[in-house]
Amino acid sequence: MLTMERLAIVGFGCAGYHALEAIRQAGCRAPVDIYSDTGLPPYNPMLTTYYTAGRLPYQGLFPFGTLEEIARRFDARVLTQTPVQAVRARDHQVVTADGRRETYDQILLSTGASAFVPGSFVGLKGAFCMRTVADAVRLREALEKRTYRRAVIVGASMVGIKVAELLHQRGCHVTLADMAPHIFALAAYPEVSTLIEGRLRAMGIDLVFGQAIAGAEEHTDEQGAVQGYTVSLADGSTLETELLVLNIGTRAATGLLDPAEIAIDRGVVVDERMHTSVPGIYAAGDCCQGNNLQSGQTQIIGLWANAGTQGRVAGRNMAGVSDETDGTILHNITHFLDMDFIGLGDNRLTGEVATYASPDRRFYLQAVLREGAPVGFNILDNYGVSGILKAHLIKVLRGQPSRFTPEQRGQLIRFGLKESFIDHLEANKYD
Ligand SMILES: Cc1cc2nc3c(=O)[nH]c(=O)nc-3n(C[C@H](O)[C@H](O)[C@H](O)COP(=O)(O)OP(=O)(O)OC[C@H]3O[C@@H](n4cnc5c(N)ncnc54)[C@H](O)[C@@H]3O)c2cc1C
Repeated sequence: MLTMERLAIVGFGCAGYHALEAIRQAGCRAPVDIYSDTGLPPYNPMLTTYYTAGRLPYQGLFPFGTLEEIARRFDARVLTQTPVQAVRARDHQVVTADGRRETYDQILLSTGASAFVPGSFVGLKGAFCMRTVADAVRLREALEKRTYRRAVIVGASMVGIKVAELLHQRGCHVTLADMAPHIFALAAYPEVSTLIEGRLRAMGIDLVFGQAIAGAEEHTDEQGAVQGYTVSLADGSTLETELLVLNIGTRAATGLLDPAEIAIDRGVVVDERMHTSVPGIYAAGDCCQGNNLQSGQTQIIGLWANAGTQGRVAGRNMAGVSDETDGTILHNITHFLDMDFIGLGDNRLTGEVATYASPDRRFYLQAVLREGAPVGFNILDNYGVSGILKAHLIKVLRGQPSRFTPEQRGQLIRFGLKESFIDHLEANKYD
């Protein structure tokens, strides 16, 4: 039965938007209060670097339209510039930063995550991060005001590489630094990282991997304007730079919750219905730990599509329509500096390695198999095969028959794979 209780959504990003859409698509007409700490429509953080680079107009950051359109389309009360300070689970109350208390019957937490700045960098007033629209605007304005010749980017992740791309394309010398020994430490196999790193070095990008960045000293002029930084590495060496961008990681935005009331690990813990440990409270997106289909454990899966799926499942359940998701696998698809990198599955799992390289070595595929079944893929420069291999991996993990269809096989062959290699990727043990 569809609910007519008062519903609330805290945080209006990808997960929050899809929850609202699902509530209405389920036919539920209950009042929905949306608490947003910005005055902006839901935006796509993946597009922030495109805006900063001048490759996307400002409106392009907002894929679902303006707030007015969304509020009208879904008949929702959107409370903008209204950060929620606390959700009092026992009292079914939302406490806003300005001290208001509002009640709810069911609530979704979709507060996402925020850029993590470690203690050694706190207090640097001129350093940049990249997560929010405000971050993107700030970096764009800085780049318009000054021509930076040298930049250090800390964090060689999907975000760091996008920032590196935009600065490199402006003619700025980029050094990408990370404590991890390789680029894309959470997604790439070492051999594939090495290939990518070779290409980046050939473009003139410096890579400093495998040692901690101890801190940075900010240099200002007489007026107090930041001119540059000396970045200190753990081995005692230093890097001089004019621009410093920190993409060290994110932290789930769970500060509004009382851990004595609701189960929180790295993110809010949820079940397959996106329900938390407290009746009537759901969570979705980067603030929560959903199921990793591969490990069977809950984990923050910081991906756009995942936030949408989780938001939809939560929304349907809040509307009174039972729904579940059995989770997803880790998957990263990123385009940068004329390359495509796709990582599917947990890159820490080792096993038999099977590789394919096109004659010019642009297209490179590495599969890792255990007991004859794939557990992960890395693909360089062949976006076309990624959908087929992702669907294949998910089927294998669900224990479903895992033969490629004739169409898929035909496509894989057209993309350059040999029949014998494709046979090898089929997990015969499940047939
Ligand atoms: C530069 C960059 C590149 C990325 N690239 C990729 C990629 O290639 N592929 C991919 O799948 N994913 C990528 N991501 C990740 C993807 O953008 C996120 O996984 C997704 O946006 C998560 O959606 P969400 O709704 O959970 O959180 P968010 O989009 O962070 O939305 C949460 C919202 O809640 C608001 N909020 C927080 N706290 C409160 C509060 N207390 N009260 C009220 N409102 C609050 C926030 O301001 C925000 O608007 C990238 C992210 C970045 C930054």
